[in-house]
Amino acid sequence: MSAKIELFSPGALGTCWYGKYHYLEPWAGCGHSCPYCYARSRAVVSNSLSGLKTSFDKPVPLLPEKELLSEISRQANSGEINVLKLCRYTDIFTPEFTDNGLTFKILEILAASKVKRVIITTKGLPDRKTMELLKARKERFSYNAAARPSATVTGSPLAKFDACLKPLEARLKAAAELSAAGVQTTIHMDPFVAGLDDDDKALGAFLDKLHALKLNRVMFSYLLFSKGIMGTMRAAVPQAALDKIMADYDFSAAHTVLPGNEDSVSQSLRNEVIRASVEKTAGELDRRGFEFVLCSLKSVRGLDATKYKRNMICDGKFYA
Ligand code: SF4
Repeated sequence: MSAKIELFSPGALGTCWYGKYHYLEPWAGCGHSCPYCYARSRAVVSNSLSGLKTSFDKPVPLLPEKELLSEISRQANSGEINVLKLCRYTDIFTPEFTDNGLTFKILEILAASKVKRVIITTKGLPDRKTMELLKARKERFSYNAAARPSATVTGSPLAKFDACLKPLEARLKAAAELSAAGVQTTIHMDPFVAGLDDDDKALGAFLDKLHALKLNRVMFSYLLFSKGIMGTMRAAVPQAALDKIMADYDFSAAHTVLPGNEDSVSQSLRNEVIRASVEKTAGELDRRGFEFVLCSLKSVRGLDATKYKRNMICDGKFYA
């Protein structure tokens, strides 16, 4: 039988904090439909989508709602799950289930469960009821909003990256409200595109915005290319811009990250490109007093990380 998405699964090899946390995947698919999303091309995701007779952009819960909620409650109260990440192959605030209340019901169960820490990473926007729940249980949740500097630039070639997302301003405002209420909140500049997201104007304006909102924790993580995202990337990014972005990547075996299954093999930036981009971005973050890390899954050969005030390579604890 072909493997399918599991409701709860331990962190996998090739992802951060291997062995230290679990993932929850309440549904297959994601309404945000990001063109760079690797989940769409993973075999477990497509097997689940076919089983549920749907497509990636029309997410469907893995089980009927009553069963889904009772299974989440059972496993979250088993005592075997301490740190839970939401999610690997979808977004807990995908609009369908934020709007119909299913996301709230899941988070309410987790807030009252034996799970000690719930780490949300999202490109979505929580509704008011959920915002109040997260604030009321601030010791339980870590909130991570993914947003990119080039999203602030009018006419950016990456404009379609955000086509299905709620407006950036609203998402950052929600993050700021949670942060002010004491929920540990981190902005994930992800996927960070060298040459566009580290552009002086875009990065400067974005960091100013974060600073004004008192959002002072940042993680950044570079875009990876894999075979599975090529179709959606070609459809979303104008050809000339895509060619320019791809010219910065090394498609040789030496720059393969997340090796393993055919569907997870990805390619990273050329050494000199990522080194220059990291140095520029980390320099700006450092200068402006941000707490920050670079995702450690993306190796940067020859980077001198000692010149920054803080350990800038993520050790898996920064946004836990
Ligand atoms: S929000 Fe995340 S899971 Fe959803 S489409 Fe975008 S990258 Fe994929």
